[in-house]
Amino acid sequence: MSLLEQRIIAMDLWHLALPVTARRDHGIGSVEGAIEVVLLRLTAEGGAVGWGEAAPWVVFTGSPEATLHALHRHIRPHVVGRKLKDRAAIMADAAHAVAHATEAKAALETALLDVTGHAVGLPVHALLGGKCRDEIALSCSIANPDWAADRQLLQRLHADGVRIVKLKTGFKGHAFDLMRLEEIRRDWPQVAIRVDYNQGLQPHEAIARLPEVAAFKPDFIEQPVAAANLTTMARLRARIDVPLLADESVFGPEDLMRAIEAGACDGISVKIMKAGGLMRAQSVARMAGAAGLSAYGGDMFEAGIAHLAGAHMIAATPEIDLGCEFYQARYYLTEDILTAPFPCDAGRVQVPDGPGLGGAPDMERLTRYTVVRL
Ligand SMILES: [Mg+2]
Repeated sequence: MSLLEQRIIAMDLWHLALPVTARRDHGIGSVEGAIEVVLLRLTAEGGAVGWGEAAPWVVFTGSPEATLHALHRHIRPHVVGRKLKDRAAIMADAAHAVAHATEAKAALETALLDVTGHAVGLPVHALLGGKCRDEIALSCSIANPDWAADRQLLQRLHADGVRIVKLKTGFKGHAFDLMRLEEIRRDWPQVAIRVDYNQGLQPHEAIARLPEVAAFKPDFIEQPVAAANLTTMARLRARIDVPLLADESVFGPEDLMRAIEAGACDGISVKIMKAGGLMRAQSVARMAGAAGLSAYGGDMFEAGIAHLAGAHMIAATPEIDLGCEFYQARYYLTEDILTAPFPCDAGRVQVPDGPGLGGAPDMERLTRYTVVRL
């Protein structure tokens, strides 16, 4: 019997609350105390196990409760009893079973790829077309309303070899943003800066503020205005001399089509949690490449399993050429869930080559941080 004839015999779910080290503010939405993720485990009849993680953010993609029940109630009937070889059919059924719930679908596809990788002895990147890179430059976000605390984080990042930071802006006034840009440029001149407003500006504010921010020559300015406001994005893009990126405006390929038609951006943030899976994220990146747009690999508030999934996806996607943001496991969570630390060295994520994702959660920590188990 082919290894891919094996059926999936169990699907287990954990809703976790994982403590974080600091408060983070954004143009829309703050994070404090803990992040909430949903973990999914699939077991195949030969004994192979696969993990997936959904990392919803309530102000961006959805809630952990909706994610948990999308998987438990609406997606589970399309998974248990199916064969490993039917991955694309399972994903198509999940897409039709419940609208949106993109994080749930990302977790499902991650777990399907992980269990398949373990069953056949291949890394996830090999199942996604093969690898085009062994490591990915890491960007860490700066979003603490306490600037003194973020200066300490910047020192630590610099000592660790991280050379890209993303400054979260638009939550505490324009003067606060300009002051932080000035200090980073002055005190860490080797560090590349990216700026992300997370939809935090009204169009008239963006018209006034963006040229002053662009004067600091960041790599790009991301999502200054509301996700749906593609027309304003296009107008802003014409007024500044640094690239304008779309994040909240582009979830899947369908959104990217609209953004390209509107001329809304020079590049995009590709996230498996927005796209609804690793392969749809690859589709988004390939469309961006065909349209002449750049792309980086973003994330939500994630733990190590989602970081690993993103790393494998980017490793197999040459169009994502501006690095990644898989920093939470190392720089934001009080404690990650992986048994071995998320692989990162000298400011670069190392792409695992072992079977599946190349990492799994520690069961004791899973139990400790569980809110709901289904
Ligand atoms: Mg963003």
